Amino acid sequence: MLLVAAGMSLLGLTGCGRAAEVVRAARALESQGPDAVPDSPAASPSAAPSPSAAPSPSAGPSETPAGAAPAPASAAAMTPSAAASAPSAPASAPARTLTAGESRPVYELNAERRVVALTIDDGPDPRHTPTVLALLEQYGIRATFFLIGENAVEHAGLVREIAARGHHIANHTWTHPDLRGLSEGKVRDELERTSDLLHRTTGKVPTWFRAPGGDWSSTALRVSADLGMRPMAWSVDPRDWARPGTGVITDRILKDVRPGAIVLNHDGGGDRSQTVAALKAYLPVLIDSGYYFTAPPG
Ligand SMILES: [Zn+2]
Repeated sequence: MLLVAAGMSLLGLTGCGRAAEVVRAARALESQGPDAVPDSPAASPSAAPSPSAAPSPSAGPSETPAGAAPAPASAAAMTPSAAASAPSAPASAPARTLTAGESRPVYELNAERRVVALTIDDGPDPRHTPTVLALLEQYGIRATFFLIGENAVEHAGLVREIAARGHHIANHTWTHPDLRGLSEGKVRDELERTSDLLHRTTGKVPTWFRAPGGDWSSTALRVSADLGMRPMAWSVDPRDWARPGTGVITDRILKDVRPGAIVLNHDGGGDRSQTVAALKAYLPVLIDSGYYFTAPPG
């Protein structure tokens, strides 16, 4: 499977407990190859600010284009091996040039078939994670769990269970801060501490990183790359964290999902019973519609 990083905006992603607006800019660039998406802050020093980087009330998941179109030029640089083979630099070294896969988040998968990546954020949480795991088991789904370090250290057994069931263990920082306001040292501490914990707990090194709230920064992308991770965003955000109602969450997902979608859900950060109920509702619908689920290889 090939991965596509769509054009990104730095501002205003939702979820994870903050009300904001999803903005994804420069979508049309995704088929133009790895050098054609300049609005990522770490893409290149010459990257010009995107005029569409400002939050827009009209922007949202509905603007996500179909993800089925292949983008071989971009995908070539987005393969896991491209990121894995990149040299890592010590913290004090001058910033190296990040690969395309490191310098901008993946927003959706380049899927010719009806594939969806389910991502579960902000856990683990003993109130909801076991139910989510049981549902995923019931439907034979592998998901990616973006875990918060301070939750993971408190519920290490759940972390091990997530990994043992074949799901991806991914890094969502230690305390879920807005990384844009932190020094590089603090960003590194947030990411490194979490990766180290998840490694110690599961024996696996996280290969995916997601900035809290989707609030990416060039520093976070650089540190993430230094730690051997790639950034993953999302293309479908039902804003389940705001608890709009199970029906609303379900409807938003079913309306916005398309081949290659990366769906954002939460099993932590508060009462997620609506999310769990929505999963029960929409997973069988998507499966009956011919979708299958994947956890993208890091
Ligand atoms: Zn979060």
